[in-house]
Amino acid sequence: MTVVLETKNLVKKFGGFTATNDVSLKVERGARQALIGPNGAGKTTLINLLTGVLEPTGGSVWLEGEDITRLPSHQRVRRGIVRTFQINQLFAELTPLQSLALTVSNQLGISRRFWQPLGRDARVAERCDTLLRQFHLDDVMDVQVAHLAYGKRRQLEIATALACSPRVLLLDEPVAGVPEGERQEIFDIVNALPADVTVLLIEHDMDLVFNFARTVSVLVNGALFAEGPVQAIANDPRVKSVYLGEGTPHG
Ligand code: ADP
Ligand code: MG
Repeated sequence: MTVVLETKNLVKKFGGFTATNDVSLKVERGARQALIGPNGAGKTTLINLLTGVLEPTGGSVWLEGEDITRLPSHQRVRRGIVRTFQINQLFAELTPLQSLALTVSNQLGISRRFWQPLGRDARVAERCDTLLRQFHLDDVMDVQVAHLAYGKRRQLEIATALACSPRVLLLDEPVAGVPEGERQEIFDIVNALPADVTVLLIEHDMDLVFNFARTVSVLVNGALFAEGPVQAIANDPRVKSVYLGEGTPHG
């Protein structure tokens, strides 16, 4: 198997507090890998280090054998490390079609003219069409984001990330804050992501983790606590005691 994304002895300190503690993590091509751990374990911090939102205090980040530790965020996106955020970051006034047209135009290197409607280019329209269907957004493609159900907004976030043609897609709690009744649709979408896209998913919902992941990495207090096939992790008494047994965590 080929390792796509790797961290070596990654450390992040906030003042005297160690949020990421000597993490050496490997993500293989085409992985369906989940990153779990109690609230405050350092999951989001790790994603921020992988995407270049934060600079590490020590250690390194590698993409397909290349040291990208000092590479700024936008250059990592261009190289295919794309994330969704835990908090909604969509433009409220745009519709799903417009939002996707914007991203797809950018991807295709088509400079947008403000006096032209978004998505007029045939290639853009076709790609948007596919994404809207794939992410179950075709029925709401002309509804302003501000008026979308929360679950649909999350679906649009994932669609937008996929529109960036990621090699590695990092999903930070895609169902966080989504009402129970809207979760299954997001589960389905996450499970149906293209097989050639490597996916690292942070999630608290164990149903989603166990349905989606083949590999699970457990973070506790900033450090990698356990790692392995999903069934082994589910049955690991140490993992149960620190994480699965603690009730319903949030964050
Ligand atoms: P998780 O996503 O696993 O819930 P986080 O990565 O968000 O955890 O946070 C890990 C720890 O690092 C928490 O204790 C949090 O308060 C701390 N932390 C995160 N970001 C910052 C920051 N910018 N400054 C100071 N402390 C932070
Ligand atoms: Mg988090």
